[in-house]
Amino acid sequence: MSNEQSIPVLQVLNEAGRRRTFAVISHPDAGKSTLTEALALHARAITSAGAVHAKGGRRGVTSDWMELERERGISVTSAALQFEHRGHVMNLVDTPGHADFSEDTYRVLAAVDCAIMLVDAAKGLEEQTRKLFAVCRHRGVPVITFINKWDRRGRNALTLLEDIETHLGITPVPVVWPVGDAGNLRGLVEAENTDQMLRYTKVPAGTHAALEEKLTADQAVEQEGEEWANALEELELVLSSGPGYDQEAFEEGKISPVFFGAALTNIGVKLLLDAVVDLAPAPGPRPLAKGGAREVGEDFSGLVFKIQANMDPAHRDRIAFVRVCSGVFERGMNVTRAASGRSLTTKYAHTVFGAERTVVDTAYPGDVVGLINAAALRVGDTLYTGKKAEFPALPAFAPEYFAVARPKDISRSKQFRRGVSQLDEEGVVQVLVSDRRGDQAPVMAAVGPMQFDVVLHRMEHEFSSPITLDHLNYRLARVTDPAGAAEVGKSRLTDAEVLTRRSDDVLLALFADKWHLSAFQRAKPDVLLEPLIATA
Ligand code: GDP
Repeated sequence: MSNEQSIPVLQVLNEAGRRRTFAVISHPDAGKSTLTEALALHARAITSAGAVHAKGGRRGVTSDWMELERERGISVTSAALQFEHRGHVMNLVDTPGHADFSEDTYRVLAAVDCAIMLVDAAKGLEEQTRKLFAVCRHRGVPVITFINKWDRRGRNALTLLEDIETHLGITPVPVVWPVGDAGNLRGLVEAENTDQMLRYTKVPAGTHAALEEKLTADQAVEQEGEEWANALEELELVLSSGPGYDQEAFEEGKISPVFFGAALTNIGVKLLLDAVVDLAPAPGPRPLAKGGAREVGEDFSGLVFKIQANMDPAHRDRIAFVRVCSGVFERGMNVTRAASGRSLTTKYAHTVFGAERTVVDTAYPGDVVGLINAAALRVGDTLYTGKKAEFPALPAFAPEYFAVARPKDISRSKQFRRGVSQLDEEGVVQVLVSDRRGDQAPVMAAVGPMQFDVVLHRMEHEFSSPITLDHLNYRLARVTDPAGAAEVGKSRLTDAEVLTRRSDDVLLALFADKWHLSAFQRAKPDVLLEPLIATA
């Protein structure tokens, strides 16, 4: 197939304009799966009808491609759910639930234009939420806040907003306010329309959208009396003390519009979905590594943000997830991989959500396409047609866990090497090599220890090379340069070490803890030691 774009630019711009590509960030158990199901209920699923189905009662939208995942009941994969709402195409990109896979989540956040920060009303801002929020801030992803589980006893609404302001340094601007305290949810009121109260009829989880009833202010006074008056008073208090909603401030990450509700009983979910349509930005120009930007209407370009092998054990295949950034993706087109300049064909293109796959023929900016068996691709790759595009590399999280990998059976060293390089390309762990150890004994570096479980499992079952992992006593990694590496290498600190991250040649100096690091820094103040993006 030729690469002549058959679709007019105007159509590309129109299609891009009606796309909303977003992810939900939250601490485990805040209700991400429940919210995803509830969102999809309101929407007309386009590609994944029936993909969102509860397994074992609650783990609805996780996929089950891996035994490990099944055993632990956690979602290790990321893919996208596409559905339609009010004439818009919504791409909800799944994020891994477990904190140990935050590096994956980071990459997902490179592929979205907006994030919904889900907060449990009783637990408030939890650790993982804060970390992911920091990533959004770093990437400039605007954040909408949804305070969930308002049907259950929880904290006070004003306190929750105060926490967001003080701990996250972003101004929460309520768009919706709850009538009734947490555990006594009477309904909702919109900041823009305080002349009416919205009341809902509870529906069982995952069945259908909650019925909405509109009460006039008089009816609300009559029926909800004190709760209604309190809600208006609190809302007024917050709005009058802050800057109010401002689209530019939202897109710049200065404010976060706030919603309340209960995903489980589907309350407040439609208002949230409307907000994604009305407030979240459509795909826009994307900055390029060498300056400038790729405009949405230019030739096709896309970012590989996730590689997942073995999603279907029957086929042992490998899928590269690509977020379309500009132009049109048409299945079968030849695209160039910016890193190598080589071209590849895209015959096998799918949208994937959980175990469901649908062939995709055309995709527009904001959409996510899964390319099957595109072996050459790596996480962070740019693909393009026409004028060259290369997006900035995805920054790596600071690894905090390190272990030396060795094959249990040295006669299987070929399988060992193949497995290690595959896991490196997928970004399952960062694979590091030091002069001291050589590449026969690579060091696996992880953000969370559970990544090691995935490595052990896959090396044995997928690459037929069972390995041992000997844990190293390092907790801190700093980026250094060759001069710094030489200093660290000859330092008398026996527990410092320099390793190279093979895939991008970054030099990392490892230290046991902050005491050793600061002792070294005091002794060698000129050595370059730059932190990576911290997850703590
Ligand atoms: P995830 O780990 O973030 O995906 O969380 P889940 O969606 O699996 O939800 C965790 C638990 O919280 C489950 O038992 C849900 O039924 C429950 N849950 C989620 N949303 C709500 C809600 O709005 N109200 C109440 N009462 N429970 C909820």
